[in-house]
Amino acid sequence: TKCSDDGNFSKGELIPYGDIKLSPSAGVLNYGQGLFEGLKAYRTKNDSILLFRPEENAARMIMGAERMCMPALTVEEFVEAVKLTVLANKRWIPPPGKGSLYIRPLLMGSGAVLGLAPAPEYTFIIYVSPVGNYFKEGLAPINLLVENDYHRATPGGTGGIKTIGNYASVLKAQSAAKAKGYSDVLYLDSVHKRYLEEVSSCNVFIVKGKTISTPEIKGTILPGITRKSIIDVARKQGFQVEERHVSVDELLDADEVFCTGTAVVVSPVGSITYLGKR
Ligand code: PMP
Repeated sequence: TKCSDDGNFSKGELIPYGDIKLSPSAGVLNYGQGLFEGLKAYRTKNDSILLFRPEENAARMIMGAERMCMPALTVEEFVEAVKLTVLANKRWIPPPGKGSLYIRPLLMGSGAVLGLAPAPEYTFIIYVSPVGNYFKEGLAPINLLVENDYHRATPGGTGGIKTIGNYASVLKAQSAAKAKGYSDVLYLDSVHKRYLEEVSSCNVFIVKGKTISTPEIKGTILPGITRKSIIDVARKQGFQVEERHVSVDELLDADEVFCTGTAVVVSPVGSITYLGKR
């Protein structure tokens, strides 16, 4: 069942980066009715601009919008808006090898709503920023803390989509881990408290021999676009790739561990700390 209209977004415009005006009772501010995406544009040696599979981000936003009772742009509208924004900001795209332009599309319930309900109006924004490496380690191995007290998502919740509330729920665990010197937090499932879910902003893989395993997509982790590409590439290179329940014991026993995401690209994991029961 659908709980929102298909959407009829008026034509957008390019405006300088700055504050936006919102009603204090906007759905996004009161009930977290917001979704975002994250993409990157890269500059090549011959000065052309590359986007990585933007249609996949569009499809993920459409899926998320359905779950959040929001109308969404079509794939074509989304990709067109991303391209226009990137071209208008071409001068901010770093030279090859020096970083990329991070692209943040944001869809929100901007209409005023007092009682709990989907907002009556929606706003779609894209903003961009040049970025370098996500982790301070750069592409050197990171150190992860396996989180015991907090969960990112729960079955039936919104862990499978890129809604803003998922990130609010991890701020505390992530800040505490960073204060102790960890690069990031790896979450376990909320039912058995034993199976890997994902890291705050990336998917996780373990390697054992010639087999690569990663948590399956079951509604509680984000279906990462980098994750999907890495699975394809690994299979083409002759690795066996399994999408399944991966336990914390297997994580600690793995030959190699790495994380994937638009921001983190492919980040190797150098150490893992797990303070829970084995
Ligand atoms: N999981 C979470 C929670 C994320 O925020 C991200 C980043 N979008 C990912 C996984 C990786 O997804 P992608 O490869 O599409 O960037």
